[in-house]
Amino acid sequence: MNKNKSEFIISRKDNQYEVVIGLEVHAQVTSDSKLFSTSSTKFGAEPNTQVSLVDAAFPGMLPVINEFCVKQAIKTGIGLKAKINKRSVFDRKNYFYADLPQGYQISQFKHPIVGEGKVILDMPDGQKEVGIERLHLEQDAGKSIHDLDPQNTFVDLNRSGVALMEIVSKPDLRSPDEVNVYIKKLRSIMRYLGTCDGNMQEGSLRADVNVSVRTKGSKDLGTRCEIKNVNSIKFMQMAIEYEANRQVDLIEDGKKIDQETRLFDTKKNETRSMRSKEDAHDYRYFPDPDLLPLEVSDEFITKLESNIPELPDEKKKRFIDKFNLSPYEATILVSDIETSKYFEDVIKNSDVKLATNWIIGELFAVLNDKNLEITQSPISAKNLSKLINLIKDGTISGKIAKTIFELMLDGDKDPQKIVKEKGLKQESDPKALEALIDKVIDNNREKAIEYKSGKEKLFGFFVGQVMKVSGGKANPQLVNEILKKKL
Ligand code: ADP
Ligand code: MG
Repeated sequence: MNKNKSEFIISRKDNQYEVVIGLEVHAQVTSDSKLFSTSSTKFGAEPNTQVSLVDAAFPGMLPVINEFCVKQAIKTGIGLKAKINKRSVFDRKNYFYADLPQGYQISQFKHPIVGEGKVILDMPDGQKEVGIERLHLEQDAGKSIHDLDPQNTFVDLNRSGVALMEIVSKPDLRSPDEVNVYIKKLRSIMRYLGTCDGNMQEGSLRADVNVSVRTKGSKDLGTRCEIKNVNSIKFMQMAIEYEANRQVDLIEDGKKIDQETRLFDTKKNETRSMRSKEDAHDYRYFPDPDLLPLEVSDEFITKLESNIPELPDEKKKRFIDKFNLSPYEATILVSDIETSKYFEDVIKNSDVKLATNWIIGELFAVLNDKNLEITQSPISAKNLSKLINLIKDGTISGKIAKTIFELMLDGDKDPQKIVKEKGLKQESDPKALEALIDKVIDNNREKAIEYKSGKEKLFGFFVGQVMKVSGGKANPQLVNEILKKKL
């Protein structure tokens, strides 16, 4: 599945450099209404149709915390095996921008709702743990639209006030491939929990990517640059690769790296300086006087804990322990919640081993080929399960099953019906097979003699002939047995 590499080393002359990466992921909380107002969060609405007086920051408007968003953040914290802070504080992060009518963003600075946690990555050379520094709740800003008009900039405040979870990793990532696996794992966990849909096209998941380099083997962290607001995994990887090489070149030239905020230009595939790094004190953070500190009780947390569904790591372990799947198979089948649902639906009534092979093999090939999600699978779990049962009980051979599978693709046809209509039932009647086999031996007298005199390779030839004459319907196992006797 993954040829992902944990190691990303840049070599220059005699020197080898390692890249160090930490991510600040902004994940939009799945919630019908915003963090401090009742406005809708529905994606794709007409501009400025989902803006309350709170979101537009009219004077005198007061924010009211949305309890559902708080629950979502705590659930995510539990999914990240993190410490949940019973007391957290909302601060004002002050800055001016046209899409920020308040003049400040409400965020959590010193006291986030979730503390340290971890995420496990399945890399080809084993598992790797990435530390989570914190998760805090904050509001999203609106959107400035610069390309509608040559003279004017437009502002859409629909997004203003939407709840985000900022998930900050420790600087534990070491390669673009690890970043790929990390983002996917984070997204998978949140989708299992239903706390963020992870839809990167709609901007539900984006990240600030912090990159530094250091001599391989060094324990010190180098000076980092932060690449702002990257919204696809591919772009994150390209940006890291470019940025790491840029920093190595500077060091090799004997220059210093300035800590700064950069932008990734997706067209030119390069990062560009945006501003030198602002410090926290530039934002004049202070506790928002309109909001009390957020306090949650033990019962509140325990109740959420007791409703956490089985998450990918636990599901993977169960698939391995209970169904004897390989770690590779289990990793693939739990990688997203929809795939795991499909798999579990199929195996409700059919053989696990066959189901695993058919889903990872044939079905994924089709989905890949047609660029479909598992939820759009042309074959339902119910019908795939029927197909597997037909193989298992010997009604059809594995080879015929492939033919039937192809036919099922057209409108999710019932495999039992196909078998009936096309007369594809496997021939397992020994009498009928003997007759077939006698005929084949008769027609190939000379080869039969050669076989008997020691040319054992010819056995395969006879199996092939019998299968051919039977139109692929002969039960291969029986054919083998009878042929052995007859020859
Ligand atoms: P800020 O909010 O100012 O960006 P943080 O302390 O929250 O600063 O760190 C942001 C991110 O930068 C974290 O994900 C952290 O892991 C990462 N980071 C910190 N130091 C380095 C470094 N030297 N190289 C790469 N990433 C780093
Ligand atoms: Mg930052």
